[in-house]
Amino acid sequence: MKITLLGTGSPIPHPARAGASTLVTADGLTLLVDSGRGVLMRLTAAGVMPPMLDAVFLTHLHSDHITDLNDVVTTHWIMSPGPRPLRVYGPPGTQEVVNGIMTMLAPDVRYRIDHHDDLTQGPDVQVTEVQAGETFTVGSATVRVAATDHRPVEPTVAFRVEVGGASVVLGGDGVPCAGLDELCAGATAYVQTVLRPEMVQAVPSQRFQDVLDYHSSVEDAARTAARGGVGTLVLTHYIPGLPPGQEDEWRSIAAAHFTGPIVLGDDLTAVEI
Ligand SMILES: [Zn+2]
Ligand SMILES: [Zn+2]
Repeated sequence: MKITLLGTGSPIPHPARAGASTLVTADGLTLLVDSGRGVLMRLTAAGVMPPMLDAVFLTHLHSDHITDLNDVVTTHWIMSPGPRPLRVYGPPGTQEVVNGIMTMLAPDVRYRIDHHDDLTQGPDVQVTEVQAGETFTVGSATVRVAATDHRPVEPTVAFRVEVGGASVVLGGDGVPCAGLDELCAGATAYVQTVLRPEMVQAVPSQRFQDVLDYHSSVEDAARTAARGGVGTLVLTHYIPGLPPGQEDEWRSIAAAHFTGPIVLGDDLTAVEI
């Protein structure tokens, strides 16, 4: 199994960090988790074209995790040689978001169907809204869903993808919680979005400081990883943006609480587990 951090940014625009998205590939499966800003540029850099996607998982419906889902929908549709559904799994509310995207794309869909003789139908986006505690399969992958705690944003979920003997937990945004602990137990890898509280506190903006209470700190993520006995901790969605050269500092903060390998870095940082 290979985990690639497609976008390691946050809602704040960053010239070198795309928005939240992570690629998981294993046993011929290609799974995209979240679809933040610039996702298709990074997906292409990782060697994946949209028609190759077997499924898209959404951890929650915050804009920084879905802002380029419309690009995935359009490009998956237009680049597929024939009708091919795009399967999207996300929390309740996902269908509403996809319906809105389809409304937004309606003129474009008309233009393309009118223009291309071999294109007779619009995008076939098949949404499955998932609940905490559910398990579903995508090809050879078994996917478990748990609730996360990103309140007041609700509902939000994490996914545990198991293929063969490997498993990865995609924690999304949120603070440590029972659902996350349950998914992380014994996982091969755990991907968590993180912030540095003292850096956020230093910014004199109440709106920015509001994010402190619903994200895991680097320490929180490391402690969750340690409690679950996970193999590798992967950090992403850096708030504030991880400056070049500070990777070791961020890693050492996590290493105080978690003794396994800690992966973080630029967009397209990848780890095989
Ligand atoms: Zn969020
Ligand atoms: Zn986020």
